[in-house]
Amino acid sequence: MDPRRRERTGHFTRREFLRSAAVAAGGTVAAATGAARGARRGAGPVAGGPASAAASATAPAATKTQATGPHVAVIGAGAFGGWTALMLRRRGARVTLVDAWGAGNPRASSGGETRVIRSIYGKDEAMTRMAARALALWRENERRFGVTLFHPTGVLWMTGEDDRYVRDALPNVRAAGLTVDEITLADAAARWPQIRFDGVRRVLLEKDAGYLLARDACDAVQRAFVAAGGDYLQAEARPFAALSDASRIGPMALGDGTILAADVYVFACGPWLGTLFGNVIGDLVRPTRQELFVFGPPAGDVRYTDARLPVWIDLGERLLYGIPASGIRGFKFGDDTRGALFDPTTGDRTPSAEGARAARLALGRRFPALKDAPIVEASVCQYENTPDGRFIIDRHPRAANVFFAGGGSGHGFKHGPAIGELVASMALGETPPDPAFGLARFAT
Ligand SMILES: Cc1cc2nc3c(=O)[nH]c(=O)nc-3n(C[C@H](O)[C@H](O)[C@H](O)COP(=O)(O)OP(=O)(O)OC[C@H]3O[C@@H](n4cnc5c(N)ncnc54)[C@H](O)[C@@H]3O)c2cc1C
Repeated sequence: MDPRRRERTGHFTRREFLRSAAVAAGGTVAAATGAARGARRGAGPVAGGPASAAASATAPAATKTQATGPHVAVIGAGAFGGWTALMLRRRGARVTLVDAWGAGNPRASSGGETRVIRSIYGKDEAMTRMAARALALWRENERRFGVTLFHPTGVLWMTGEDDRYVRDALPNVRAAGLTVDEITLADAAARWPQIRFDGVRRVLLEKDAGYLLARDACDAVQRAFVAAGGDYLQAEARPFAALSDASRIGPMALGDGTILAADVYVFACGPWLGTLFGNVIGDLVRPTRQELFVFGPPAGDVRYTDARLPVWIDLGERLLYGIPASGIRGFKFGDDTRGALFDPTTGDRTPSAEGARAARLALGRRFPALKDAPIVEASVCQYENTPDGRFIIDRHPRAANVFFAGGGSGHGFKHGPAIGELVASMALGETPPDPAFGLARFAT
């Protein structure tokens, strides 16, 4: 491995690591062997041990080469981790971003083509504020990246008898400086004749909203991160399985037998977070199987494209949503109902015939002309659900240099840039964890 790259990234072969640890501890290679063995087993040694000496041994050299801040390893290059890595790098930290399969890969919750961005969040003012901040950051960063990621179609909300979710959100959304228009049913029917409004009580158009390109955004963020001097490593992290009362931990073993030594570790591992940290997170992040179907509108028919239709959310007995066709993309339909528990690594991603039938039936009720449209794409993704649907953004309860960012719960993608900002300032010690996203809220 190139020694300069090794010093910058903290990424060592086992032999290099042993040598570095021994030098830093003023001891022998034999003394450092125990630490490396611990890392290889996935049990990070505690502070003050030879391994933490090795981690800090990389710091002076790295300071000489480029960094002004600490060395942070971010594990997971999805919406949460990618943005965190970029924000950290922009603040001067030395950052190594690690992902087992790549940013926006097909197993990741951030994979796939598109995601909805909206700020209506019922009574939850904090989520509305976070979504509004994220929207501003999406706009700013797509300009910086030079690519279009946000498509401002607006989001059309259709409620049944119970309209509390949107009603409660209106003051918060308007306080955040965003626009929502109330539309009468008659006006809505005239404006969008493609939609059948049967059973709809209330229609609102959230104007500062629309959809984001998901996989493309993950790629753009990673590219911007690398262009800003960050290091990306495709590797499987094997985090610290056996934590006792350590106040700081590291280094960390990687799946190929090498070792990553950093000052701070941020785990943004999406649906894998619960199994990676079984004792601390475990069932607080439960992945569920979600099917998505994309329908093909009739040839040459632009009524179902984003030129004519906003993103829509149908809040009836369950939450259904869709993203209009655009360019070569078809008309996406999703049902937000939680599916069965799902293994993100080995789970079968073949969509079911039963799911396809249910999707067609539900879509045909709202968009009658699409009831016989062919399914042109279908996929299986997973939500990573917390018990209350809020994210987990917190410090490890027993390790001061380890942070978690996850639990997107089916709505996390849009918040990526705002979460990145928040986690970056926590990891740099600028702000304490916000109890609203803390693990302690589940301890009863
Ligand atoms: C079908 C579907 C529709 C959705 N719709 C919306 C929507 O409309 N709007 C919205 O805002 N949100 C939506 N979401 C939710 C949103 O996509 C997720 O909450 C968000 O993408 C989660 O991002 P993440 O970075 O936490 O996880 P991920 O994207 O899963 O990223 C985690 C990364 O960690 C890596 N990793 C895991 N373990 C390891 C390891 N040991 N070593 C190295 N790397 C590892 C993985 O490869 C992965 O890339 C939807 C989700 C799904 C599935």
